[in-house]
Amino acid sequence: MSETLSVCGLTIERGKKLRTLLPVPDTAVQIPLTIINGAEDGPTLLITAGIHGGEYPGIAAAMELGKDITPEEVKGSLIIMHPVNVQGFWARREFIVPEDGKNLNRVFPGDPLGTLADKTAYLISSNFFPLADFFVDMHSGDIHESLHPYVYYPGQPTPEIEKQSRSVAKVLDMEYMVRSLATGGAYNYAASQGLPSILIERGGAGLCLQEDIEAYKEDICNIMRKLKMFATPVRPRHHHPRDVENLIYLEAEATGCWRHHIHSGDFVYEGQVLGRITDLFGETITTYYAEQTGVVLYVCPALSAPKGTVLVAYGTIREDEE
Ligand SMILES: [Zn+2]
Repeated sequence: MSETLSVCGLTIERGKKLRTLLPVPDTAVQIPLTIINGAEDGPTLLITAGIHGGEYPGIAAAMELGKDITPEEVKGSLIIMHPVNVQGFWARREFIVPEDGKNLNRVFPGDPLGTLADKTAYLISSNFFPLADFFVDMHSGDIHESLHPYVYYPGQPTPEIEKQSRSVAKVLDMEYMVRSLATGGAYNYAASQGLPSILIERGGAGLCLQEDIEAYKEDICNIMRKLKMFATPVRPRHHHPRDVENLIYLEAEATGCWRHHIHSGDFVYEGQVLGRITDLFGETITTYYAEQTGVVLYVCPALSAPKGTVLVAYGTIREDEE
């Protein structure tokens, strides 16, 4: 890393912090950005929060980390966007960028000639991914997702990138991790370009609880200890994530009223009732049963369940521990 960090026309000297609004080219949108160029040399960590604007604990934690961390305590550079999807945040919309209706996490690497979501993805993938040594994408359960904390690491890149990503996922104080076989998603794309990356899920359901924010900040600090960006060693955790596999994202077959019988974090057994869909008179239309024994990662807490929305996400826990 050179003494001075330069990106998108911004220049940050060694030992300095910059807090600014980063324009998305050819749009009126500006992304709140904090860049901390640490006093000492080290890796560059890129953090995005709020690619989904309704996922509040990650956004709040990112804001606070950007405010509180000083260049004096950092080896290397820390780049934080908080939130990326500013339009979605102010519109209180889940998943999408309001201007174009696109899920920003599904359009990477983006397109400079596309709509706002495409341009935003391109800004990040073309300017920030090449600078970074590790990438953390901070999510939460969205507004209609009640979630048990877990972390995704990419399973599709080279074994070395997967290993580096997984080794960082393992320092998080959470019970579960998921090896993603997806190729879409900001962190999957980053990994395909040789950038080790993870996506953290903590908190959700439209809430912004202080306990989730604090836990999220500790997640990031432990990642920085793991990457040797802080002088202190990785702190002990209450939990060590175990792999959850065979994820089933159960979707509503038809629009109806969702009555969930289970909660996020629950263990479910094959054949157990997960919930049921009723009509507007309360008459049951469909009962959903667990197809496998495992753990519930998130559940829709809302009564309204439009066709195609996810009702429950659950998977099996891998028992073999290395
Ligand atoms: Zn998300």
